[in-house]
Amino acid sequence: VGVTSVWCEWALLPGGVAADVRIDVTDGRIAAVEAGAAQPPEADRRAGVTMPGAANAHSHAFHRALRGRSQAGRGSFWTWREQMYALAARLEPDTYHRLARAVFGEMVLAGYTSVGEFQYVHHRPDGTHYADPNAMGEALVAAAADAGIRITLLDVAYLHGGLGADGYAPASPLQRRFLSTSAEAWVERVGGHRLPANARLGAAIHSVRAVDPHSIATVAGWAADSGAPLHAHVSEQTAENTQCLAAHGCTPTELLADVVGGRFTAVHATHPSGHDIELLGRSGSTVCLCPTTERDLGDGVGPARALLDAGVTLAIGSDSHAVVDPFEEVRAIELDERLARRERGVVTVDELVAALGRGHRSLGWDDVGTIEAGQRADLVTVALDTPRTAGASPDAIAAAVVFAATGADVTDVMVEGADVVTGGRHRWVDVVDELRAAIAALVDEVPG
Ligand SMILES: [Zn+2]
Repeated sequence: VGVTSVWCEWALLPGGVAADVRIDVTDGRIAAVEAGAAQPPEADRRAGVTMPGAANAHSHAFHRALRGRSQAGRGSFWTWREQMYALAARLEPDTYHRLARAVFGEMVLAGYTSVGEFQYVHHRPDGTHYADPNAMGEALVAAAADAGIRITLLDVAYLHGGLGADGYAPASPLQRRFLSTSAEAWVERVGGHRLPANARLGAAIHSVRAVDPHSIATVAGWAADSGAPLHAHVSEQTAENTQCLAAHGCTPTELLADVVGGRFTAVHATHPSGHDIELLGRSGSTVCLCPTTERDLGDGVGPARALLDAGVTLAIGSDSHAVVDPFEEVRAIELDERLARRERGVVTVDELVAALGRGHRSLGWDDVGTIEAGQRADLVTVALDTPRTAGASPDAIAAAVVFAATGADVTDVMVEGADVVTGGRHRWVDVVDELRAAIAALVDEVPG
């Protein structure tokens, strides 16, 4: 097995940014890291700062086709949802594969090396199974392999159309393809997945609006027995809190109290109560904030500082893909807190840098997200000679990246030892052409 050496002008190591760092990679893993190293003649030289790969812990790949189409005009999360449902109705395994391959390519270009795909478009539009009941999920897994990104397929249990004071509502016609007939039917279907090495299976509860308490226990039981991560949308909207309180007499997080823990990720948690924050922190849960989506949908600002103080691990997700940029996502955590509190320096640069990489663990990949021996070799290099990053202080490179860099400043991305992006270009996916073609094939009749 050959050793590849990458020699970095700067690298973000667990102890901070170091200069002249040699990273040896063997068989997809980091074998050795040496700071202050002489540049070996055969090494691949990376100017700029090389960082661990970022994790996109919450994605719905098809939402990318709504970018710029659903964002203008008035409305709310609930009016946006109608446009999203209309698009979902048109997806088929082949068209979704094509779109997802381009979207995952866009993610790698921006510096994401793992994605958690929160997949609920399972069935045909009329609610019946495809010949292969997992055809849609497997199209997404194949798309990730095509694009060179690691994937956790979060197969979503979605059982009801909504939650009212008098209980769970039946599905609307456009929701039919999302729904499993029961939690037991969901368990049976996910048991049929056969995934390749770049992929892992996770479980997801769509939300307390779509999954009743008995079914939450069934899905969480499957995840616990399988050692799989478990994700759920939680309190993105105050309406969800109101509906849950009316129907169950408790908050969504309280309804999930038996399933929170080290393998659990609450997505959004924009409107948690003080008790919810305590439950999430004490249990060692992760919260995946999706600030660019929460901002786009007018959801609100998640309480990042309070969650961190309670012991919650923060991760990020690009969710609706209004923006695909890990740097924009993490700086929004702090900048939105500033707007909400009219105060600066609420979340530290170290905490923001950590949030870039914490999602790998929440997706079930425990050995990705830092540059040290033994970890999978995911390396993202950010140029320091672009209009956004030029003039960065050598003493504050991490701050310059977190507050000023964008995905467009990423020059090189290695995923598990493989060079996927070099010189700012995906090596085998023409991301721009493929996005254009895949979106054009899907959206021409979508209103909005
Ligand atoms: Zn979502």
